[in-house]
Amino acid sequence: MSAFNQAVVLDLVRRSEAGLSRVELIGATGLSTQTVSNIARRLLDLGLIRESGKVHVPQGKPRTTLTIDPSSRYAVGAHLDPSMLTFVLLDLAGTVVHRRHVPVEAVASPDETVARLASAIEELISETGIPRTLVLGVGIAAPGPIEFDQGAVVGPPMLTGWERVELRESLGKATGFNVFLDKDSTAAAHAELWVREKRSDQNFAFIYLGSGIGAAVVMNGEVVRGSSNNVGEIGHFSTGEGGRLCSCGRMGCLGVSVMPVQLVREAVTEGIIAGPVEDTDLLLITGRFRDLAALADAGDERADALFRAAGARLARAVEDVANLLDVDGIVFGGPSWSPVGSRYLEVLRAALSTRLAMGMIHEVELAGSVLGEDIAAVGAASIVLDHVLAPRSGGLLLE
Ligand SMILES: [Zn+2]
Repeated sequence: MSAFNQAVVLDLVRRSEAGLSRVELIGATGLSTQTVSNIARRLLDLGLIRESGKVHVPQGKPRTTLTIDPSSRYAVGAHLDPSMLTFVLLDLAGTVVHRRHVPVEAVASPDETVARLASAIEELISETGIPRTLVLGVGIAAPGPIEFDQGAVVGPPMLTGWERVELRESLGKATGFNVFLDKDSTAAAHAELWVREKRSDQNFAFIYLGSGIGAAVVMNGEVVRGSSNNVGEIGHFSTGEGGRLCSCGRMGCLGVSVMPVQLVREAVTEGIIAGPVEDTDLLLITGRFRDLAALADAGDERADALFRAAGARLARAVEDVANLLDVDGIVFGGPSWSPVGSRYLEVLRAALSTRLAMGMIHEVELAGSVLGEDIAAVGAASIVLDHVLAPRSGGLLLE
């Protein structure tokens, strides 16, 4: 029995909320009755699926429904952000069963961070009482760019001392788990794809706003990866004339135009919030960014104007992303999106309503993700589930 066929069957059962009978699986896969029966037997033996009731049909025997057993396996997702470590435990159905947030006061060395990640992962698992043996692996979402094949983060912005860190290997050694590393924006797009219906007509871009900004692309229901898994480095896209000087030497790059640290600094300069601002204290920046968003929500006109101007700069870059990709929608998310998302969306919708090249042909829907601030961690865990469960050339890795 091929591992691929087994993965196809499991994937179909996993994605069907009500479950599927063997007869339906035969119809959906084109596999023989005997093959589907053998695969179902094996998945039942592994505990991945269960028989959950019978459906009566007009003619013939009642059919037994097969559904996924959510509590049969789990995956850990971790998001490495310069100011916050986020951990989630996902069950096999992709539901978050537990989460932890660990604020990072100061930028720690890679060794310290790996030790911190490892102990937080152990605590995450032990707090749930779930046997460690049911955990399939650990996914890590990190700021890009990454060296995917080596599982290394390479000089992420705002993580000093992180010139090149082989995170996958060191965390694998520290925990004993299989570790998967991906970019935070890519992981977020994965999470978004997981909560949507698996359809080949899913075409959207995901724009991730964290301490920096990145994009990911989903085409025909698959996350596009590029030749080095670094699709979506949009931090230096132009937001128009003028603007702030970027580290790359140009003015008004997207990254420096919407990063929380820049907006907070701007607000201090304009006297909207009190200074001073220590650029390196990212936890403090995050807090002040939220304060500023709360001020805007409370009706402070200058705070509102500051965010609307930032939204307009974001719109310029989003327009380029939309025009390049011809997607049906652009989804936004991440920790720096959530506090200001509704305000940004208004500006984005107004700015882009008449400007997109394909606007006469089809709509491009702009929306915030429903997954909230933990989206990158959820995505990292869903990458583990996908890697182990999804049908691909490598087949099902579960034994
Ligand atoms: Zn730049």
